[in-house]
Amino acid sequence: MKPTGPLPPAFARQRGALMIAGADAAALVGTHGSPLFVYDADAVAARVARFRATMPEAVGLHYAIKANPFTPLLSAIAPLVDGLDVASGGELERALAVKPAAAVSFAGPGKRDEELAAAIAAGATLNVESVGEARRALAVGARIGVAPRAAVRVNPDLELRGSGMKMGGRASPFGVDAEQAAAVVRLLIEGGAVWRGFHLFAGSQALDAAALIETQAATLALAARLAEEVGAAPPLVNLGGGFGVPYFAGDVALDVERVGVALGAALDRRADVLAGSDFALELGRWLVAEAGVYLTRVVDRKVSRGETFLVVDGGLHHQLAASGNFGTVVRRNYPIAVAGRMGAHGEEEVSVVGCLCTPLDRLGDRVLLPQADVGDVVAVFLAGAYGLTASPSAFLGHPAPAEIVIG
Ligand SMILES: *Cc1c(COP(=O)(O)O)cnc(C)c1O
Repeated sequence: MKPTGPLPPAFARQRGALMIAGADAAALVGTHGSPLFVYDADAVAARVARFRATMPEAVGLHYAIKANPFTPLLSAIAPLVDGLDVASGGELERALAVKPAAAVSFAGPGKRDEELAAAIAAGATLNVESVGEARRALAVGARIGVAPRAAVRVNPDLELRGSGMKMGGRASPFGVDAEQAAAVVRLLIEGGAVWRGFHLFAGSQALDAAALIETQAATLALAARLAEEVGAAPPLVNLGGGFGVPYFAGDVALDVERVGVALGAALDRRADVLAGSDFALELGRWLVAEAGVYLTRVVDRKVSRGETFLVVDGGLHHQLAASGNFGTVVRRNYPIAVAGRMGAHGEEEVSVVGCLCTPLDRLGDRVLLPQADVGDVVAVFLAGAYGLTASPSAFLGHPAPAEIVIG
């Protein structure tokens, strides 16, 4: 038997039928088909409210839409947050449909000239990733007769300790090395761009409040040092994000209250050069991961050499991360349950496998579940972030799952 991750609090106390935002999960599958992604808009709103209650007032909240760009969900989130961060021309279009351009910023390496032009023409902020991109943005702006709004994304000389994905303190395709950042700001200003400030992103999926606190303080100090070097105050300092969620056994939820108190103190003692700046955090998974559930029906139940398999009609083509093949070194089980039997005692050890013809397609590896049979619905939790759009949905040519927002 292998452990599973902790059920999100909204589901941990449920008994009997799995309810998502007051709706019976099995009934939703009956209506919308299987497999099905269900996103609870109330749960996302509650997360936003928690951010507002715990973070200093001076810190705005941006949603990094690559975590989940599903249009109805994005439409629900947009009015609740101060900005949307996008990472492609396609995401830019979706963001501009629901938010004014002044609240949209565009990060990511390898922006094509057409993408730069679309962002500049609309008035979105480019988070410039290199000196070459700064030059191309100025050239594109000159060609279309619009001054680019641009911040410089900095590849910091620090990294987020304990983060799932380290993105600072080393050679990187992301951002301008801190040593060169001031020069790129000057290049942008002299070239006629509207300088919007700095974007610093030091890592992702952090559950350790102390590590985040340390990183945020160091990030503020770095922004101040760079602003001194530029000789101008940045209008906005995007401090990155990195708030994680507990996916696996032993993971403990991030203490955001502690992070908020410490960030408030760090802002209170910030350098004078940042006195008039605005600040923002950009969050993806922390806002949406726990709000999503992936529901998939059992198609076959078989025993092979003593191991019981529940074969479901979904799989890694929809929910790659739960199969352990999206950025994890060791495969561990996401929280998983039989939707009709919440809170029931585990009765048997089973492996929940998807319908793809590859041994990688395993949603639950030797997990202890109550008895489930053909027709029952299995729920895989934490499916609200990096689910469908982070999965190889064309692989094997199965139909796309339905996605719905409720709540
Ligand atoms: C992906 C990304 C995020 C969101 O990361 P999460 O771990 O989902 O919070 C934030 N900022 C940037 C620059 C990103 O690339």
